[in-house]
Amino acid sequence: MKITFTQLIFLIALSLITGCKNEPSTKRVDRENTILLEDLKEEQGPTFEKGATPRNVILVIGDGTGINQISALQYYKDGKIHYEDFPVIGLSKTSSTSLITDSAAAGTALACGEKTFNKAIGVNAQGQDLVNLTEFMSQKGGSSGLIATSSITHATPASFYAHHTNRNDHEIIASFLPNAPIDFFAGAGLKYFRDRKDQVNLLDTFAQKGFTIETSSLKAYPEAKKLGYLLADKDMPTMIEGRGTFLEDASNLAINHLSSNEQGFLLMVEGSQVDWGGHDNDFDYMISELIDLDNTLGRLMAYAQKDQNTLIVVTGDHATGGLALSADQGDYNTIKPTFSSTGHNADWIPVFAYGPGAELFSGVYENTMIFHKIKSLLSRQK
Ligand code: MG
Ligand code: ZN
Repeated sequence: MKITFTQLIFLIALSLITGCKNEPSTKRVDRENTILLEDLKEEQGPTFEKGATPRNVILVIGDGTGINQISALQYYKDGKIHYEDFPVIGLSKTSSTSLITDSAAAGTALACGEKTFNKAIGVNAQGQDLVNLTEFMSQKGGSSGLIATSSITHATPASFYAHHTNRNDHEIIASFLPNAPIDFFAGAGLKYFRDRKDQVNLLDTFAQKGFTIETSSLKAYPEAKKLGYLLADKDMPTMIEGRGTFLEDASNLAINHLSSNEQGFLLMVEGSQVDWGGHDNDFDYMISELIDLDNTLGRLMAYAQKDQNTLIVVTGDHATGGLALSADQGDYNTIKPTFSSTGHNADWIPVFAYGPGAELFSGVYENTMIFHKIKSLLSRQK
């Protein structure tokens, strides 16, 4: 085939553009495959009585985190993968009233137990308000906390306190938070509370409602009745930009703050930006966010193992980017991660559980069932 000079220049330019854009790092893996009987015994870990009920529930959501993201974590994280610590695994079907969900409808499914339309926050397919898990928790005297690495008004955390038909109306969503039964929150989105078109300063409203609000660091306030951290105007920095141990540290603060309530607590922790790495088809961004979430899982698991009264449920709202972990040009010892889309996927999403009631989370079910299982466990509480 003959190629003209212009075609040649075009092809070089094209390969430069596509080659430069977020070329993922390949990974060579040498793994040991020997498993001894003793290892199998050790891996079973502590068990909980069937029918046991937890006092506390921690729901961890990896936004845009499907099985291929978690598989990649196993290959790219040095050291222990905490996803492997969970004895019960299930699979969730994530469609909304569309075949492929967004994070608003998926967040609403998890927080409120109903399938709804993409963009919907805490409302059903007809736009009517749904009762969410934090409202349910407060009705029975428990406490609730929310942590995200995005704005706290972003779709996933918003589904746990707001009721609105459009996820993009951050200022409207923000106005729900001071009045919601939330006892602890940490994330970003300060500008939606402080620099608003309606000139209302919601930091004043927070103060009237008994909140201590901190805007510069994760400083501890052991005496605070309700506690909120708004640590950036729009979103938290990425891990690559140096977010550090925010997610782990905020989780610790939340547990310290919430665990004093003997009626129990519900804590939602979101790794918000795994999804954004997927949308950007930027593997290094995606995996660094997932490593952060996995480190946080380690901290939460350590608490649950000590407490023995806390159920942890870990899932994703959907997968993002159509990630594949294929052999690099026929080299079956090297993985080259590739993305096949910049949007969300229809994959089944794994659900991991540990603690009293964890056995309910095995099997295959709709994402709305995660809400119903948690609610039923909390209802059974003595
Ligand atoms: Mg999210
Ligand atoms: Zn997304």
